[in-house]
Amino acid sequence: MDGFTYAGATTVNQALGLATAGSAYLAGGTTLVDLMKLGVLSPDQVVDVNRLPLGQITADAAGLHVGALARMAETAAEPIVAKAYPVLAQALLASASPQIRNMASIGGNLLQRTRCDYFRDVRVPCNKRTPGSGCPAQTGANRGHAILGTSSSCAATHPSDLAVALVALDASLTLQGSAGARQVALADFYLPPGSTPQNENQLRPGELITGVLVPSLPWATNSAYVKVRDRQSYEFALASAAVVVQVANGVIADARIAVGGVGTVPWRLPAVEAALRGGKPSAAAFTAAAAKAAAGAKPLGDNGFKIVLMQRTIVRALSELLGVQ
Ligand code: SF4
Repeated sequence: MDGFTYAGATTVNQALGLATAGSAYLAGGTTLVDLMKLGVLSPDQVVDVNRLPLGQITADAAGLHVGALARMAETAAEPIVAKAYPVLAQALLASASPQIRNMASIGGNLLQRTRCDYFRDVRVPCNKRTPGSGCPAQTGANRGHAILGTSSSCAATHPSDLAVALVALDASLTLQGSAGARQVALADFYLPPGSTPQNENQLRPGELITGVLVPSLPWATNSAYVKVRDRQSYEFALASAAVVVQVANGVIADARIAVGGVGTVPWRLPAVEAALRGGKPSAAAFTAAAAKAAAGAKPLGDNGFKIVLMQRTIVRALSELLGVQ
């Protein structure tokens, strides 16, 4: 690990004032410290934000407010979250390990970096880590890579389960910089790789995520998150689905569907949602709607199976949520 200086902040303004071009904010450290040990990240200063007063979880008429420093475990265990937004609690509990969930913050979870093995190995090229160096995943080991939103420059999946659930719920972030605060929809926050995969989101230099707003949605009580992975714990998704469904008089009145493990960003599926609306819940209807998720998919050599896996994961999530055999 390269040398760095350490600074601690107790207020947001103090943290913003300490930030420099080469610094990084430290919250739970479960991504940052890993990547510093691997040599992928080498900040010259670490600004510890753990003492900032950003750990609250509250609800009001506008919706659910989660401070950026709330920990994953405590957020999942918060009764408001578990009762009103089960898809969020389930996505959090499907993430990482209990030890990591105790440490990792909500803001840090949303900013975690891809698990592409090439990105994490400084001995090999990677456009995301070293722009212009190449993308060995295009022709190399790409079983875990994305099929949606990819480019010839990068096909790394976005790793956060939480982000998938939040995109389905139309959540937004509060970003605080020295020029003030701004609100950005999470669906717009993440950037597909295009020709600049090093630019992953809309965060400006020195800006800090201070909180997440999940808009009030009474029917979010009827929601679920299903994650398919190579092993049952401490593993990233091969495919996942966040489903939020409103049923009235035996008909699907509205639906929010997003998938993870398959996109370069958390991937909302408006065509699937539209296909579900107005129909009766049935396995045939779910399968027909899920088929629309494949539009625009571009598998690489080893990950063509993800198209079918993604569709089956959507069908399974809907079937389990709505009790359809
Ligand atoms: Fe790097 Fe993206 Fe290619 Fe992985 S897929 S090697 S992160 S450029």
